[in-house]
Amino acid sequence: MIEKRTFYINGEWVAPLAAHDHNVIDPSTEEPCAVISLGAPADADRAVAAAKAALPAWRDTPPEQRIAYVERLLEVYKSRLDEMAAAISLEMGAPIDLATRSQAMAGVSHITNTLTAAKEFTWLHPLGDGTEGAMIAYEPIGVVGLITPWNWPMNQVTLKVAPALIAGCTMVLKPSEEAPLSSLLFAEIVHEAGLPAGVFNLVNGDGAGVGTTLSGHNDVEMISFTGSTRAGRAISRNAVDTLKRVALELGGKGANLVFADADDDAVARGVRGVFNNSGQSCNAPTRMLVERAAYPRALEVAQKTAAETKVGSPREHGAHIGPVINKSQYDKIQGLIETGIAEGARLLAGGPGLPEGVNRGYYVRPTIFADCTPDMTVMREEIFGPVLAIMPFDTEEEAVAIANDTEYGLTNYAQTQDPARLQRLARSLHAGMVELNGASRGAGAPFGGVKASGRAREGGRWGIEEFCEVKSIAGWAKPAAQ
Ligand code: NAD
Repeated sequence: MIEKRTFYINGEWVAPLAAHDHNVIDPSTEEPCAVISLGAPADADRAVAAAKAALPAWRDTPPEQRIAYVERLLEVYKSRLDEMAAAISLEMGAPIDLATRSQAMAGVSHITNTLTAAKEFTWLHPLGDGTEGAMIAYEPIGVVGLITPWNWPMNQVTLKVAPALIAGCTMVLKPSEEAPLSSLLFAEIVHEAGLPAGVFNLVNGDGAGVGTTLSGHNDVEMISFTGSTRAGRAISRNAVDTLKRVALELGGKGANLVFADADDDAVARGVRGVFNNSGQSCNAPTRMLVERAAYPRALEVAQKTAAETKVGSPREHGAHIGPVINKSQYDKIQGLIETGIAEGARLLAGGPGLPEGVNRGYYVRPTIFADCTPDMTVMREEIFGPVLAIMPFDTEEEAVAIANDTEYGLTNYAQTQDPARLQRLARSLHAGMVELNGASRGAGAPFGGVKASGRAREGGRWGIEEFCEVKSIAGWAKPAAQ
């Protein structure tokens, strides 16, 4: 069993102030695979103090040097990519090919895109014409607390750490206690890259302990959080007294509007988009709305795609899906599948219970409900498992109204060959992101939502700006001519 009880504070691996072991469970076996420590508030205080002490020097390090540090970080990260994929696969059950090509590689993309944005970033610029002496400066907000989930662990960690470093912030990372192994490896990578002590710190812990200490801490200027809407609300409440900035990336219930003139792969692509990562993606297109003329054919394709989706071990190569993260998620998903049936949705594929031939591990059958209605629980709640809800619609207006009738607003999707309709939908779907005809977001595009999906923007220039304060300077004196 892997033993990783220490935290990374002030450039060193240190023991927790009090022992508090926590088992990391391999979701494919239901057995412990590693033991870590859960920190106490005093451990978090210690990490915040290290970050605070490191702030003045890091803030004053010129941006070109900060970029050079992050470039080294990227090189070390790439050299340990296979280890990273193995850690992610073990801790959260992503099959090894997905863990390598998507999960671990997401870190490479985010660090690379942040570096590109950093090189183009203007830290000080004139306000504009006719405002003599008026300057705008971007300055680091200070010590930041980074709290991340288990579903795309390195995706989330690198989307926060890289821009925070570039902005000149120092930080304390608290990864998910369900999937801490990848972040512990990330701390080793930071160390190997030679970042100054105290700039990056990691303390393991749970939400009630380290998470709450960070969100209420006087010396933490900002919390950047990715996780559930429930925890996002708790963090916001706890952050109120210190008036810190809170950036939230929360849940989703993406709508996917499939019109009768959609391309041939549209339905299968949508189904795969839900099942990928065992349905554990905040931006998954989990509500498929199909124009009535194309509905019968869409159900056939969806059913076939579900039948082709294999469930299997995270250790095996292939395009299969792995287990979901833990028992409580497994039970929650099973409960929601039962609710779908009880509320009258038609089970088109999958259903309750373990997949055929499986007797251990948190594996869920790829499940599709047809003939759903907008009020059904499976159409409203984020299930966070491989479960898709499908329903027909008659008009574009009706489809948009159903798509927007949700507390969430992360990513919505549309499939049609009509360019004018695509442009209308891009504007009328209420979400932080809209993806049309299978196009993926451009490199460095902002990621984030509206409403209960949170209002943060991560990635590219927007990700750096999130960790900055904007200072307005009047009376900026030009240096005297030589
Ligand atoms: P979670 O909210 O249970 O936990 C996320 C992190 O927050 C963990 O590190 C946890 O320890 C911590 N935490 C929990 N309660 C806390 C509290 N009261 N104070 C401080 N920290 C607290 O979420 P999860 O189950 O790990 O992740 C799944 C959720 O994350 C889903 O809802 C998913 O949609 C969301 N998510 C959103 C995005 C996005 O970018 N919008 C990306 C990935 C995941």
